[in-house]
Amino acid sequence: MPAAFHTFLCRTDNIGVLIHDEATGSTASVDVPEAEAVERALREKNWRLTHIIVTHRHLDHIEGIPALKAKTGARVIAPKKAAAQVPQADELVGDGDKVKVGELTASVLDTPGHCADHISYWFAKENALFAGDTIFTLGCGRVSEATPSVLWSSLQRISALPDNTRIWSGHEYTLSNAKFALSVDGNNETLKNRYAKFEKQRAANELTVPTTLAEEKATNPFLRAGDPKVQKAVGMAGADASAVFAELRERKNRF
Ligand code: ZN
Ligand code: FE
Repeated sequence: MPAAFHTFLCRTDNIGVLIHDEATGSTASVDVPEAEAVERALREKNWRLTHIIVTHRHLDHIEGIPALKAKTGARVIAPKKAAAQVPQADELVGDGDKVKVGELTASVLDTPGHCADHISYWFAKENALFAGDTIFTLGCGRVSEATPSVLWSSLQRISALPDNTRIWSGHEYTLSNAKFALSVDGNNETLKNRYAKFEKQRAANELTVPTTLAEEKATNPFLRAGDPKVQKAVGMAGADASAVFAELRERKNRF
């Protein structure tokens, strides 16, 4: 039986996601940016929370965990390296571990770079990746606790997943990401079309997740650091892709 997904806005720009296994009724929240927003979404869908799967330890992803766990008794699964910040965890996981939500199974991928403990959850059968703040629609997370090459390696790992992988990220930053993307890849017709589509979606208050890996490979500059056109646009023709990525990340910080 299939999985159902529900996305909704939390706080100011965090994206809440519920993953629902129709066979067993199990439901997972990806992070808990805000307990009330997640509870509201559960009521709307008439789903009962059974799991909380945590991508990383930043406060805007874990702040609602204590309240929501207390109310629902949900099983909390968190990155091994975030054990200290998520004391409510029932299970600590790292690269290669499997996580079950009812009959749905995710593989854990270590995706450090945004922060050292960051993991992503890949539901291979459902073509679904929950990538937290590693990759965004048309963007990627900021780098902390690492060199940009660490985040670049994580993005390369995500790039190696099947092209039809749907990617849910942790924030709705798409319009600002799109403007930056156009500044370095302005002749990219696919990117221009996506920007036009996203402008309409955001005007209608729709979230721009999930995206697909194929679309990101075609338009997300942070996955295109090896592309000659992007390299030329930042004056780094022929440079190492990891160095181009670092330059792009730096430019986005100043954008
Ligand atoms: Zn974060
Ligand atoms: Fe965040």
